[in-house]
Amino acid sequence: MNSFLLVVNAGSSSIKFALFHTNGTDPLVAGAAGQVEGIGTQPRFTVKGAAGQPLVDRALPAVDVSHHSGALAVIRTWLHEHHEDATLRAIGHRVLHGGRRFSEPVLVDAKVLAELEALVPLAPLHQPHNLAVIRAVREVSPELPQVACFDTAFHRTQPAIAQAFALPRRLAEEGVRRYGFHGLSYEYIASTLPALGPELAGGRVIVAHLGNGASLCALQGGRSVATTMSFTPLDGLIMGTRCGALDPGVLLYLMGRHALDAPALEKLLWHESGLLGVSGVSNDVRTLLASADPRAREAIDLFVYRVGRELGSLAAALGGLDAVVFTAGIGEGSAVIRTEICRQAAWLGLELDAAANERRGPRLSTPASRVSAWMVPTNENLMIARHTLERVAGPVSAPEQDRLPQARADS
Ligand code: ADP
Repeated sequence: MNSFLLVVNAGSSSIKFALFHTNGTDPLVAGAAGQVEGIGTQPRFTVKGAAGQPLVDRALPAVDVSHHSGALAVIRTWLHEHHEDATLRAIGHRVLHGGRRFSEPVLVDAKVLAELEALVPLAPLHQPHNLAVIRAVREVSPELPQVACFDTAFHRTQPAIAQAFALPRRLAEEGVRRYGFHGLSYEYIASTLPALGPELAGGRVIVAHLGNGASLCALQGGRSVATTMSFTPLDGLIMGTRCGALDPGVLLYLMGRHALDAPALEKLLWHESGLLGVSGVSNDVRTLLASADPRAREAIDLFVYRVGRELGSLAAALGGLDAVVFTAGIGEGSAVIRTEICRQAAWLGLELDAAANERRGPRLSTPASRVSAWMVPTNENLMIARHTLERVAGPVSAPEQDRLPQARADS
């Protein structure tokens, strides 16, 4: 019997999904992917095939898709119509926060769901949407296995000192700690390191996940030892619309002098800052690079400068550096930004090979470079699919390793 897994990433007004077929000799073959966006406003349903070809693009009646449950129903109806000969075996969810307890993905039951609900105060902007979809699935298909895969879990290997704030202990006990995010992306990149070279798999590597959200992660032997995001995905690098690391005194000033309350601060720091706030032009690096406005250049310069400084900080946490890996929208797409960041990192012994960088690597540095540089496309969905299959069928091999026997994958 053909079967497939569904990977779901629920945001405030969208549900993104991706199919992975588990039949045949390969346990995880990427299939169609799509999304329902504009939930509650102007919903739209789009699906693309495995090769990126458009399959669906249509507006949906707003009354039918006023909440995540309506969006989920649209996706499931489409799945039934187009995959009627296949069984949906499990759903893997990207869940923002696993707190201190969840250091790996987990099969969701009522107890786990209650524990994840208790983490909502730590991630009020994201966690409720992730959990709304899990609950909606449990209502219509209580027997369907659902696996929660956390953005925080990969960082639980960090030493305690890397997870601490210098705040009174009672706040740490309440959960005010450095958690780190983008963990599924870092875990995927870590899984590709053995194919790049044993010196990377066992060495000191900084991964630069540079997308709309951006962070760096220090890997030692493929495990996270430090990262730039902390209590929330606001900390660390400058992002599309997020401010990154900020003197907490700025918040006190804004609260006192401008009487900003929590919702106003949230809007300013999450949605009006970063590349958009500094440039006044756009949050998109492509637009900024093409702009003649000097503020656009200033925003890019600040972005690169902050990445350069945080690279130095993580290299210090690692006690040296063997390699840098670029990934996500900007890291994969922009040779110019990679060049500028590598120039900032020249003091660490990183020497870029300009032609290799233009060709998008995977190796971007010269053979003589003491620190190597790489470009590796991330694949968070595949990471979620691997975890999900593992939870329902036992260990899943990475593509570069042995395949799962078919009987195991389809049992
Ligand atoms: P998200 O964090 O939303 O998953 P992505 O990883 O998809 O973001 O990255 C999106 C961002 O990547 C865009 O806003 C844009 O700034 C940047 N980007 C994408 N492609 C390119 C490119 N070819 N050159 C420069 N920047 C790019």
